Parts: sequence; C-alpha cells; structure tokens
Amino acid sequence: MIRGVLLDLDGVLYNGDEPIRGAAAAVRRVRKSGMPLLFVTNTTSRPRTALARKLADLGVPADPGEILTPPVAAAAWMRARADGPAALFVPDPTLEDFKGLEAVPGGPPPRYVVVGDLGPAWTFRRLNAAFRMLHADSRAQLVALGLTRFWQGPDGPNLDVAPFVAALECAADRRATVMGKPSAEFFRQAATILGVRPNRLLMVGDDLRSDALGARRAGLLGALVRTGKFRPSDLEGPERPDWVLGSVRDLPGLLAHGEH
Ligand SMILES: [Mg+2]
Repeated sequence: MIRGVLLDLDGVLYNGDEPIRGAAAAVRRVRKSGMPLLFVTNTTSRPRTALARKLADLGVPADPGEILTPPVAAAAWMRARADGPAALFVPDPTLEDFKGLEAVPGGPPPRYVVVGDLGPAWTFRRLNAAFRMLHADSRAQLVALGLTRFWQGPDGPNLDVAPFVAALECAADRRATVMGKPSAEFFRQAATILGVRPNRLLMVGDDLRSDALGARRAGLLGALVRTGKFRPSDLEGPERPDWVLGSVRDLPGLLAHGEH
C-alpha cells in the first residue's frame, strides 16, 4: 500500500514553462486524499522559494518546505554533520539554501567543496580554485548537487554538473558524494521528511534512470510518466518501473486502486 508520494517537477507537472494538462488538478486530488506529498527535483539553479513561486503560477500552490532539491538536501546533510564550512560553487540564487554554511576568508578551511550547475559562470580559475581546495586537504569532501550530464537548451545541449564533478574527481583523485536523484541518500532524506517507510513511498517521474529506477534501487516504488523526457525505448530495457502512467493525471487513480 502506498503511504506517500514524491513528485518530480520538470516533465511531470510542466515542460519548461508550459504546464502539463491536468497536472494541477491531479495534485489537488492527491492533497485532498490526505496522502503525504513531497516535490523532489534535481534543479540546482534556483532556490526552493523560486520553485514554489513557479508552482503557484502553474496552479500548484506549494510551501517551500514541501520541495526537496539537491542544495536543500546537501545543506541539511552538512548541517547534521556540523564539522566544518563549505566552499560553494553554485549559482548565486541558490546560495540562500546554504545559509550559515559558507566558508569565509580568514576562517577555517572548507571541509566541503560543493559543486552545482554554474553554467557559463564556470571559468578555468573557478574550477581550478575548487581543485586547489581539494588538493590542499585530503579530508575535504567533494559534494555533487546531482549528476546530470547535460541539459537541453533552445540552441542545443549544455554541460550540466556531472562533467565538472568528473574533472574534479579526476584531478583530486577522490569520489564525490552525490546529493540528488538517483542517490539513495537523497531518497532516504525524502522518506525521513515525510515520515513514510521507503517501501511505502512512490516516486513519480519522467526520467527512467534518475526517478523510477533510482527510487527502486533505494528501496522505494517507482512510477514512470509518459510525458517530459519519456521515450518508448525506456520500456525496452531489462529493468522496468513498478508502474507506467500516461501522465500525472493517472496518479490519483493509481493511489485509489493501486494495491501493491
Ligand atoms: Mg523530470
């Protein structure tokens, strides 16, 4: 029996700035049923206050506290460990999610080097500064805000977080801790926030690897929607999601009748 739902945003509730038909009504029905709900997204370029505003504009009112992003998860993880400041290589708007964690000049050296999607703000100097921090302290930990390889822009594909993390892993000879889908740690945090056992928690997304299968590998249930980046070839591999939905509009029906 499903006791809680994690909903991906892009490709499930909207495509870019276009709402997906029936998504707002589906979320209203899920809320009305009393099912615990958390929005989970790998977006690192915006703070969750901005995502809450976007959702409201699309007819899905949400409290920022109902949205889990890699920056929010990474900040919570570092706060819980409370063992040193972080050097933040993240877009400026996202800095607000890391309040109180940032390394300051003259203070203790960074315990964490956090890498998000800086996009065109990356320069050799900036990437090299991150490398030097890791090189200077073998205990300094590289933290990746998701491992998205690229994103599709209007003029073509663009480098996302993963290639820069790969460069730092190579140069500093250590592995990154990944915050964001499909990291099991990220799904566990979501389960803790909702207070629902992972095997009773359903992840609904349009990305086979990050959403549906990532959730299954972390011990959750996974549903794939046929919207957003879904491709029919997603269903040809050896691993299948627990459910395939036409769109998020089918979610309330699944929750009402989908015994597992
Ligand atoms: Mg998506």
